[in-house]
Amino acid sequence: MEKQTREEIIDFLKSRVRNIPNFPINGIQFKDVTPLFSTEESLNKLSDALTSTYKDKKITKVVGIESRGFIMAPILAMNLNAGFVPIRKPGKLPADVLEESYEKEYGVDKIQIHKDALSPNDIVLLHDDLLATGGTMLAAYNLVRKSGVKEIYINFIIELEELNGRKIFPQSVDIEALIKFEI
Ligand code: AMP
Repeated sequence: MEKQTREEIIDFLKSRVRNIPNFPINGIQFKDVTPLFSTEESLNKLSDALTSTYKDKKITKVVGIESRGFIMAPILAMNLNAGFVPIRKPGKLPADVLEESYEKEYGVDKIQIHKDALSPNDIVLLHDDLLATGGTMLAAYNLVRKSGVKEIYINFIIELEELNGRKIFPQSVDIEALIKFEI
């Protein structure tokens, strides 16, 4: 069988993402990522395509955001010979935590990370499934910065380009998304 190009692999993965209109509320085009994980072929291709960008970055920790970020982050960590660290919603992590608040459509949300999970020598890859407005990831980015690490890379499976989530990050931040949708 001929080897597929990266573009062909990304097109294949994009075709596996299922769009669910009006979920969980009217007007939202929900991108269901579960079909990406459900076959050996798709999961392998996704794992390889996400990992290859970071092979030479000397990543020491992959930080995943609860909950859909918890699926690929540990796989990325294994592939990159790095550790995995969770960012969780309040009240879930048992030891001392650092916390960051951020505005959601309705009210304020919080996320937490264990205080001792990261150290100054860490090179961090922050991962979540999808970039929409960017609010969740910006809070995670600020939380990891509070931990005082050496360098931070940001990675998503999907980016919804029309929402311009990238724009809320400092220009210097390295943000990669594998699959792009307009909305
Ligand atoms: P945001 O903070 O606006 O970038 O939203 C990102 C978070 O909300 C991610 O963790 C996604 O899992 C989820 N999310 C937002 N919009 C969508 C969407 N259209 N389809 C699937 N998940 C979404």
